[in-house]
Amino acid sequence: MLDLTGKNALVTGIANNRSIAWGIAQQLHKAGANIGITYLPDEKGKMEKKVAELVEPLNPSIFVPCNVQDDDQIQAAFDSVQDKWGRIDILIHCLAFANKDDLSGSFAETSRSGFATALDISTYSLVKLCGVAKPLMSEGGSIVTLTYLGGVRVIPNYNVMGIAKAGLEMSVRYLASELGPSNIRVNAISAGPIRTLASSAVGGILDMIHHVEEVAPLRRTVTQTEVGNTAAFLCSDLSSGITGQVIYVDAGYEIMGMG
Ligand code: NAD
Repeated sequence: MLDLTGKNALVTGIANNRSIAWGIAQQLHKAGANIGITYLPDEKGKMEKKVAELVEPLNPSIFVPCNVQDDDQIQAAFDSVQDKWGRIDILIHCLAFANKDDLSGSFAETSRSGFATALDISTYSLVKLCGVAKPLMSEGGSIVTLTYLGGVRVIPNYNVMGIAKAGLEMSVRYLASELGPSNIRVNAISAGPIRTLASSAVGGILDMIHHVEEVAPLRRTVTQTEVGNTAAFLCSDLSSGITGQVIYVDAGYEIMGMG
């Protein structure tokens, strides 16, 4: 049985009720995990208020800001984890960012700064969070990140984010290898296209969703809840032999030769 009772789970990346991280947090909570939430703060505190209202039903015992470009905020977030829980069992890395200009048009014209920003937020942040989480995963743990097919194949307009996801998937392997002896597992879920705030920045995302609905073996794309269920599995003892993997939750689209 999938049971996360007594597990402490820190979830990053909730912006609104369409966020994949929201689907994951709900399923972890349903399975009995204690939930901690980090959010991306903004100057007016709007995000804090919005996310706080959304996650209230999950009764989070930790609710802290964490901009992954800010090492001090990352440390402060994990200090809260140390103070409140003493240890962490589950870390969900469910965030990414690239400038909208870099998610359409010419990849060859990606700016140096746009490239650096996309890889800093979308790729390096996993490495950094794992490094900070490791000492708190004193009883082992499970770390799950989110990737997309555009990290292994050329998908129109995904551009620099494809490079970020390729780096993310390889980071999963290096991290899994290094953290495995501490019984910390690291895996990625490669989700099919879902309408969210982040995906709306990718040019032609709706066309991609319609294409998947026509071509994928299940003739549809996936939901946040389906991704959440797989994340809950990857965070549970049911997946205790799985690490360093990229698991496709994409209605089967990835297998199609004429995709
Ligand atoms: P989303 O917009 O709901 O979530 C993206 C999150 O990233 C937001 O909560 C945002 O606040 C956060 N974020 C951005 N910059 C940040 C920073 N500097 N520090 C901390 N947080 C920051 O969109 P989503 O689609 O749920 O994206 C979640 C993850 O799923 C991303 O890694 C995305 O690439 C991946 N993914 C999405 C799809 C899709 O089609 N939506 C498919 C496959 C993978």
